[in-house]
Amino acid sequence: MLASRKLIMQKQNKNKKFAKIFAFNFIYTEEHNMKEFKIAVMPGDGIGKEITEPSVNLITETAKSFGVKLNNVLVDAGAELYARTGDAFPEENFEEAKSADAIYLCAMGLPTVRYPDGTEIGPQHTLRKRLKLYAGVRPCITMPNLPLPLKDERANNLDFVIVRESIEGIFAAPRKGQLDTEDVAYNAIKVSREISEKLFDYSFKLAQSRKAAGGMGKVTCIDKANVLSSMFYFRKIFDEVKQKYPDIVADYSYVDAAALTMVRKPWSLDVCPTENLMGDILSDLASALMGGMGMSSSGEIGDNNAVFQPTHGTAPDIAGTGKANPTGMILSGGLMLEYLGTKFNSPEAVKASNVIKQAVKNAYAAGGLLPYELGGTSGWKEITAAIDKEIEKLL
Ligand code: ATP
Repeated sequence: MLASRKLIMQKQNKNKKFAKIFAFNFIYTEEHNMKEFKIAVMPGDGIGKEITEPSVNLITETAKSFGVKLNNVLVDAGAELYARTGDAFPEENFEEAKSADAIYLCAMGLPTVRYPDGTEIGPQHTLRKRLKLYAGVRPCITMPNLPLPLKDERANNLDFVIVRESIEGIFAAPRKGQLDTEDVAYNAIKVSREISEKLFDYSFKLAQSRKAAGGMGKVTCIDKANVLSSMFYFRKIFDEVKQKYPDIVADYSYVDAAALTMVRKPWSLDVCPTENLMGDILSDLASALMGGMGMSSSGEIGDNNAVFQPTHGTAPDIAGTGKANPTGMILSGGLMLEYLGTKFNSPEAVKASNVIKQAVKNAYAAGGLLPYELGGTSGWKEITAAIDKEIEKLL
């Protein structure tokens, strides 16, 4: 598809105010009756510079096949920009990203580039906090024909979602606090009613839509309510919210037991809302169940904005070698289309999303794909081409 219907990209300086932002205009010959969305594309650093463009092309072309036009605007931010200019995320770039219908981001930060206080460059965290992206949606979907870590056959067909609360929890106050002394350091856990209610509402609604598509219809609150009062409060709000969703099973698990379940019988899980750090750790475990960091996708959802990105980092050890796995980035693009379709009432965008997800499965099912991170030799070009071929068959 990419070769036959060639994408024309125009790079242009928009105007002086946005001098640091390139606009990519994707131009096609026939353009009519399209639902249009503005997408802020943020490649960031490391492997982001390699796998963003092919993934954007794949997603844009597939959407177009369903009459959905993605107007992609490239927004610069990250460690490389900081090293070059002293500003990792200029305010006008933030505003440009904020004004988009969705943000499609790869990864940001480099181990060699730090702020003067030694902390990492992370504009993705700025987006999360300033845009109040409280629901970190982390699907765990396994692909066929991969050497996955669990022996049980059911582990080859996993399909559950961790919903990581993403702006509070223990990451709400990560910096040195007033109680800290020379000998003791503290971090507090923040659990607010406002964000917890939104998180649980989102989770129950997600379980409802998954149930409508044949899913289990279960939400498992993962916490540490037996020890931490903040987590007891989290669970109390869960219990209040669950009353609104009598069609969905409300379940509970302490985080330690949840880690055990994710290894012993992850197929028993459906939708799992949890605290920020717990979700951070469990979603890496979920990536391992999928075969590696490059396999997993995510959406960071708020009331007015959303960011879609693979869960991996910038992988500087393999950047520029062609070895990066673009699967998580492409699946994140699929999630983005699903979000746009649902939020803006575009069934065409949802159909395009389904095609992306199915094509990724089919590409692995066809055999012959084994990403480097799983011990194979399939780099981003081969994987993108295989998925593209499967999309073509489904259209
Ligand atoms: P961050 O702190 O930004 O999350 P990290 O150092 O924890 O980053 P990654 O950058 O995700 O982690 O890399 C961890 C390991 O996984 C590295 O060895 C890297 O090469 C590998 N890796 C990460 N993403 C991919 C990918 N898309 N394809 C192949 N390997 C990857």
